Amino acid sequence: MQDLRIDFRSDTVTKPTPGMEAAMQQAAVGDDVFGEDPSINALERKTAELFGMQAAIFCPSGTMTNQISIKCHTQPGDEIICDETSHIYQYEGGGIAFNALCSVKLLAGNYGRITASQIESAIQPDDVHRPISRLVSLENTSNRGGGSCYDFAEIQQIRTVCNKNQLALHLDGARLWNALIAKNESALQYGQVFDSISVCLSKSLGCPVGSLLVGNSSFIKKARRIRKVFGGGMRQAGYLAAAGIYALDNHLERLRTDHIHATVLESTLLTLPFVKTVLPVETNIVIFELQDELPAPALVSSMKEKSILAYAIAPNRVRLVTHLDITPAMIDKTVEELKRLNHVAGH
Ligand SMILES: *Cc1c(COP(=O)(O)O)cnc(C)c1O
Repeated sequence: MQDLRIDFRSDTVTKPTPGMEAAMQQAAVGDDVFGEDPSINALERKTAELFGMQAAIFCPSGTMTNQISIKCHTQPGDEIICDETSHIYQYEGGGIAFNALCSVKLLAGNYGRITASQIESAIQPDDVHRPISRLVSLENTSNRGGGSCYDFAEIQQIRTVCNKNQLALHLDGARLWNALIAKNESALQYGQVFDSISVCLSKSLGCPVGSLLVGNSSFIKKARRIRKVFGGGMRQAGYLAAAGIYALDNHLERLRTDHIHATVLESTLLTLPFVKTVLPVETNIVIFELQDELPAPALVSSMKEKSILAYAIAPNRVRLVTHLDITPAMIDKTVEELKRLNHVAGH
């Protein structure tokens, strides 16, 4: 059945295309806990090669790949340095404490991006009173930062700080694909500077489920043990991996279209009097702040009446995310309806 709603709530809502469904139906599968699922093995190999890293592990979610990574890099009582808006801190159910028994040093970044010098000043001194700084985690693109991207030069400086201070460096790259397209970067350069990278297949790409954690062989071997403890050892999940392989082959380049769609929404929003500000749009996320007289839930419900779904991420902030299942016609209709809502708002 065709979904008539225009769903901008998240890029997680994408569904498999006919081509992806065919790939899934034809997948060769086996028991992955025994290491015998050919499709999962192929996806893990393909992703590791893409980043020029030794190994990868397929997991049910990006929360799991992040949490496994944090658990593998740390000992109880260690401290993790990250931006205050990080997904690993805000949206993973307190997993850093729950799973890894670690504390967090939160930094106030620029749209979710932290700098090498901020990190350097956040490192704990060698003092029995203090936790041990162990891991730095970056998010690219930044979700709460409105899909902002890091400058790669800053990441390289962060790597230098990590090397000097024996800190591991993890990347929450749930939307790294979007950053690679927007900044014209390669996965290989990311593989060279991070100890571990988490990427999602379930955002924008059409896959029903799946994330991968990439790293060196001994790290991924340890990750396999932790994945089992977390209950993430799946069996004939090759059907899902086949969707992932299809997505990597067919749905990465088209992210450009999502970024163009996001800038069309941004330029419309900038003309509307009930919009106070729009966070700079760099990829597929559009976050905007409303004037005081219009609460975010009120705008979201007016849009819903027009079958346009958005997400109120704060009392005065709304998020729109573009993705595979948003067509140019949907963007046209949304632009039209937003302008009409403007009249309703009495301007
Ligand atoms: C979506 C997301 C994740 C992973 O979310 P899951 O729903 O668990 O797959 C991780 N980090 C960021 C920044 C995200 O946006």
